[in-house]
Amino acid sequence: MSKARDFILDIFMPTRCPCCEGFIKWDKLLCEECERALEPVDNSNEVPPAGCSAAVSAFKYDGAAKQGIYALKDGWGISFAVYTAPLLAEKLKGCGADLITCVPMAKRKANERGYNQAEVIAKELSKLMGIPYDGGLLTRRTTSMAQHDLETASERAEFAKTLYGIADGHSDITGKKLLLADDIHTTGATLSECAGRLLSMGASDIIAVTLCRTVKEK
Ligand SMILES: [Zn+2]
Repeated sequence: MSKARDFILDIFMPTRCPCCEGFIKWDKLLCEECERALEPVDNSNEVPPAGCSAAVSAFKYDGAAKQGIYALKDGWGISFAVYTAPLLAEKLKGCGADLITCVPMAKRKANERGYNQAEVIAKELSKLMGIPYDGGLLTRRTTSMAQHDLETASERAEFAKTLYGIADGHSDITGKKLLLADDIHTTGATLSECAGRLLSMGASDIIAVTLCRTVKEK
């Protein structure tokens, strides 16, 4: 989006911080207070979801970051993804990925929201890292049940197994190293299912990339 357009839009729809909903300057993505409140995570001790060789995320899923994810899921907080993507790109420097894809969303839901937030993240990374994006590898079926309605990790894993499929006419990913983007890494059930499909399609390696992850308190 052009700067001039952002400026004009701001007059009619003032820019809000996705993490606190406070008004911010038209050329800002987050307010300074929330920027400071975001808690970076150390990825060296992050256990990758099954099927992934590594998992990279930027922030602990808590406080300001949690609100940012809510805003992103709510259809207006894209700036949280735009803010976080460069931090992820920096962490992923030299990872040698050939292609970036994302966790798919059911078409109806993406239409309601106006976008698939995982796709927004993947496309930002593609732009920043100069690695091609391919959103046509996986599909997700439509269901009235949401994964966060399920309580236990095993319930989530069982549910995730029924959700994802391989897209007809997808491109050849044999031997390719892929980045798999999503908004949040919680139990890893979704990322793991998608990684499994991608490996069965011939991918050689999958790295999970998320804005936030849940961190267990020690
Ligand atoms: Zn804020």
